[in-house]
Formats: sequence, C-alpha cells, structure tokens
Amino acid sequence: MAPVPQFIDLPLLIEQRGTISGEFALALMPRLLEITVDDSGSVWFELAFGRDDQGIHCITGQYSVSLQAYCQRCLNPVSLCQSGKICLAVVTDRIRMQELPVHYEPLLHDSGSLSLVMLLEDEILLGLPIAPAHSIAECPSDSLMREYSTVRDTPFTVLKNLKFIK
Ligand SMILES: [Zn+2]
Repeated sequence: MAPVPQFIDLPLLIEQRGTISGEFALALMPRLLEITVDDSGSVWFELAFGRDDQGIHCITGQYSVSLQAYCQRCLNPVSLCQSGKICLAVVTDRIRMQELPVHYEPLLHDSGSLSLVMLLEDEILLGLPIAPAHSIAECPSDSLMREYSTVRDTPFTVLKNLKFIK
C-alpha cells in the first residue's frame, strides 16, 4: 500500500470527490505529544472530499486514536481511546464561516496544499478530555488525592464560577 501523503491538494481532491484513508504516527503531531507520555501509537482515519447539496466544499469522515496521557488525579499514565467524526466545511474567509449550516466546523483554507497531519491533530485535540483521568475505581491515587482533585479548579469550574459574578 502506498504511504499516505502528509500534504494534500485540497481543491483537486474536492473536485475529484476523492477519498483518503490510512494511518499517521503520533510522532508526527508535536502539539499532541505535549500531553502524551510518549510518541508511540498512531491515528487511523478515513476522509471523503467533495461538495454537498448546497455546493459547500466539505471534508467528512472519521478517525480513531489510542494514546497514553497523564492522569490528572494520580499523574500516572492513562490509556485513552478516542474516535470521532469529522465534518468540515472549507471556507476561504471569515464571513462565509458565519453562513455555514450548524453541523459543519469551518476549516479556513484559501489555497495551496493542506497538511492532513495538522487537520487530524486539530480534530483529536478538540475531542480530548480537558483533564484526562483514570476512572475512580482504576485510579491508584489515595482518597486524599481524590478529594483534592474534586476541589481543584479546572478551566471549566473557573468559567462556571465567573458566570455568577454580577
Ligand atoms: Zn489516575
């Protein structure tokens, strides 16, 4: 099987209603590696390119990845398996972004080649839990740690508290 290209000619693929599937090593995704224990593992994906009924240029498909992150309770490695659907509308400017049907995520891209690796890395980062953790039953942290972790402020609790400030 031919290796999957890291960069693609997006307009051409949309024109030809092309499909691409394959696997990329996590080692190619530096932003993802900032939260993983090591660079082992890979991302599997399949993507279809084309136009929808309204003529919107779109990329649809799915991915799945398994990786090791650090549990935010005990700081030991925790295995995360994640899969997600991809439904992107390719737009060339921010004005068109606001006109998109809600089921699309916008992908700003005006011309030239597109990094498939970065596209997938973005999707994975968006889908990952903010604070990866073992389930309570599996987490080796002691009960004191558990209590601590429940009161610790995550970005979400900070935001939630902000809403009540008048
Ligand atoms: Zn843990």
